[in-house]
Amino acid sequence: MTSQIKFNVAYIKLSTKIEGPFNRCCIWFQGCNLNCKGCGNKDLQPLMPKHIVTINELIDIVKKAKAEFDIEGITISGGEPSLQLGLADFNNEIHKLGLGVIMFSGKYKEQLDKGLVSSIDLLIEGPYIESQKDESRILLGSINKKLTFVTDRYSKYEDYFYNPVSLEEVTAEDYIFINGD
Ligand code: SF4
Repeated sequence: MTSQIKFNVAYIKLSTKIEGPFNRCCIWFQGCNLNCKGCGNKDLQPLMPKHIVTINELIDIVKKAKAEFDIEGITISGGEPSLQLGLADFNNEIHKLGLGVIMFSGKYKEQLDKGLVSSIDLLIEGPYIESQKDESRILLGSINKKLTFVTDRYSKYEDYFYNPVSLEEVTAEDYIFINGD
């Protein structure tokens, strides 16, 4: 791992139960060039600097989430996380902390770097397709999006994405911004 790696972070939640199974720290990266029609995260599309943090700073934030909230893992979202160079190195460091990694991507697995894919436990893959709205699963958006269990860590928890109760918690959560916004 090189400590020179930097990421462009939009915002972070140190603790949430609505971005995947268990209690998680969720990191939203800034920037996406996929331009899905009907994108629900349009503010995260512009390819512009938001909060530039080093890999060690981001690891320290996750460590803080682990210490304060006993998180089971992290969720990586955006934006398009795969635009962040060095993300596989970050994920691998997160695994060394005993934490799991769930990543949303607007790309399919085959379009992603193999090293990045192998650094993820659960990949939620594919673009948002407005005409294929998913009414049965939470978080995923459209029915083309696939849950790909790269490891077994979350393979028994697919039911989470069919549980509408989780959605009720959305309004109770506060987003945490790194340096204000
Ligand atoms: S991949 Fe996600 S963030 Fe990017 S345009 Fe599509 S829906 Fe929006």
